[in-house]
Amino acid sequence: MTIRKVKTLNKAKTTLEGAGVRLKRAFGTINPDLDPFLLLDDFSSDNPNDYSSGFPFHPHRGFETITYVLQGKVEHKDNLGNGGVIGPGDVQWMTAGSGIIHQEMPKPFAGDPRLAGFQLWMNLPASHKMMKPRYREITQERIPEVTINKGIKVKIISGEVNGIKGPVQDIISQPEYLDITMNPHHKFEYFIKEEHNAFAYVITGEAYFDDEYNQLIGEKNLVVYQTGDEVVIKTKDQPVRFLLVSGRPLNEPVAWRGSIVMNSEEELQTAFREVQKGTFIKHTIEKN
Ligand code: FE
Repeated sequence: MTIRKVKTLNKAKTTLEGAGVRLKRAFGTINPDLDPFLLLDDFSSDNPNDYSSGFPFHPHRGFETITYVLQGKVEHKDNLGNGGVIGPGDVQWMTAGSGIIHQEMPKPFAGDPRLAGFQLWMNLPASHKMMKPRYREITQERIPEVTINKGIKVKIISGEVNGIKGPVQDIISQPEYLDITMNPHHKFEYFIKEEHNAFAYVITGEAYFDDEYNQLIGEKNLVVYQTGDEVVIKTKDQPVRFLLVSGRPLNEPVAWRGSIVMNSEEELQTAFREVQKGTFIKHTIEKN
């Protein structure tokens, strides 16, 4: 066992996205230490002025967007007439594949102006970039929660913990997406395959994110892990809630502009030309 150390630590940065949504971007650049993950946005806000302009119609191709809502809701629809609502605790795991054009509009839920949630972008390999698009709608009842040592709760969106599998199993990048809450004075030890990249993002509270126990890391910080296998997370006097995400890197060239992620500049130009010409959509969208 090699315990993974914290390699880099970054505070999420205020970013304007969509039609003027003010969000916190934990990362959004090509980083070999985060491959196959491209971007993590935290769109949490107590002020509807920050989010109500939303994300009007835009194209995606070549990767997956994983939207996890904790509070509030996100209404979405695409140009083929599909639509739905992602409510508190729900996940939409969308495979853009060959292409979708959609909009995503955050809204208050039950009169409460607080919105909280995340969108993660996960790249697809060249072999799957033009696959048939797919929505995986995962309502909160389908996300299992495992309790460890009484004070640690793990919601499993993707991956497997203590033999319990999350609703999304993906053989390409084998992603694990966990939402973990720990009471004070607890220690969580978790094995992640050595070849995988891993990161944690702190939602609330604070914890030590490796075995050196020399720095408590607080909310809206991104921890990128070094290579190794086990992660060790320990709380002191405060609880913590964080996302722990890992996946197998693709190790392929990345050509990325806006909301389209391909392998080459030529493929990007083709995609944007198709958007202009109205020939971008190649397939209907599967839902499951
Ligand atoms: Fe989108």
